[in-house]
Amino acid sequence: MLKDHKYECQKCKERGFYKKATHVHHVQYVKKHPRLALSKTYIFQGKEYKNLIPLCHNCHEEEHDHRQRKKKKLLTEERW
Ligand SMILES: [Zn+2]
Ligand SMILES: [Zn+2]
Repeated sequence: MLKDHKYECQKCKERGFYKKATHVHHVQYVKKHPRLALSKTYIFQGKEYKNLIPLCHNCHEEEHDHRQRKKKKLLTEERW
């Protein structure tokens, strides 16, 4: 997939500068629905979302850090 298109990091793009994407982040359904791993979008509750997001290394790490923090917060809440 990375060969087909010149992907740029979508997070850096939002911040207003260009960085070549080295990772493709899978948003949803990869483990549950392996067939969707190659799909660029997925439908959830009638809305279409991007499934694959090209990211540079830094932004990709960032994305996973954020998710871990959210999970930790949820676990703390569950204890209460
Ligand atoms: Zn980036
Ligand atoms: Zn990822």
